[in-house]
Amino acid sequence: MLHCLSFSLAFLGRFFVIVLSVVVLVVPTLLSAQNRGSGQQARPDDRRVTRVLGGLEMTAADSAVKTVVDRLDFDSYKEIIRGLTEFGDREQGTERNRQAIDWIEAQLRSWGYETARIYYEYTPRGATEAYPREEVYATKVGSEVPGEMYIIGGHMDGRGGGEAANDNGSGTALVMEIARVLASSDVRTARSVRFALWNNEETGLNGSRAYVEQRSPLQGIEEPAGSGRYPEPTWLGMIQHDMMLWDHGNPVTFNQALDADVDIEFQLASEKADESAVLALKLLNANRMFATDYPAAMSNAMSNTDSGSFQDLVASVSLRENRRLYETGNRANPHWHQPTDLFVTFSDADFRLGFNAAQTTLGAVARLVDARIVGER
Ligand SMILES: [Zn+2]
Repeated sequence: MLHCLSFSLAFLGRFFVIVLSVVVLVVPTLLSAQNRGSGQQARPDDRRVTRVLGGLEMTAADSAVKTVVDRLDFDSYKEIIRGLTEFGDREQGTERNRQAIDWIEAQLRSWGYETARIYYEYTPRGATEAYPREEVYATKVGSEVPGEMYIIGGHMDGRGGGEAANDNGSGTALVMEIARVLASSDVRTARSVRFALWNNEETGLNGSRAYVEQRSPLQGIEEPAGSGRYPEPTWLGMIQHDMMLWDHGNPVTFNQALDADVDIEFQLASEKADESAVLALKLLNANRMFATDYPAAMSNAMSNTDSGSFQDLVASVSLRENRRLYETGNRANPHWHQPTDLFVTFSDADFRLGFNAAQTTLGAVARLVDARIVGER
């Protein structure tokens, strides 16, 4: 997460109030409209479960998504975070960063993915020399429309001299746990999903910017022609995950706050603000339907994370434990970029917040790419 505040807080604040009003006034209407629209008559095999906000009946389509979301495993999520923290803070340019990239790639391959890397050059601020850097990604190829995709991302680099468990082992592991679930041979998606583990976020989003620069012009091109292969499927949306565990209020309390939530943000001052707001709303709805413990909230001041590299090109949102400008930026998390950002710092109530964000993202994306369980594994 970056330090620079490049927007006027007053400006954003005014619009935040407006969007908050829209969320408060319009979202319940949209939710009930969606419920009416897709509900029709409940069929005998429809599941009815009460989730965090309760009361929403599941349609057959919802139940199909839920069977996919239910494959997410809390212990697996924690174990991936623990694995990442073994490489310390994974600061860009270090051996522990390079080893972590190899480890992430090995995990993705062990689940059956082909992986690829982005190679780019990074010039530190004030320096004249450029240094080679890399980052890894993998793709679940769609069975019907492989040439279109959603990108699910998190930055794997960290800082602070600890283990960067929360910032951003938690978001990296979330992306990898969703990749693990979708890798299963009996899970089919109509459209493609790409899992991107950005490097150099902490130095200025250099890894995600390099991806956009290199890959944006390749969107939707079949290569070789007639092969049915699309090295860069057309982007439908980008969902970033950055600091997923700690919502202990401000002033900070020892335990997870009673009103802890997953913050879904888009950037009002971006070219794709309208499309991003719609994507954020889909995530909010998915949280209500599929998250087991924590609700979500939506706001319009997404900032200082890799989704910013995409926000003028495609619908882009970030999920976080705290709103970046109003909470994280005001020290809502005392472990942010500190040596205390360790695996052992966090409790299961904290890890569960990140896990609920995984349920939220997979619930929304599964619907968007038409993910379903087919046949036997
Ligand atoms: Zn971060």
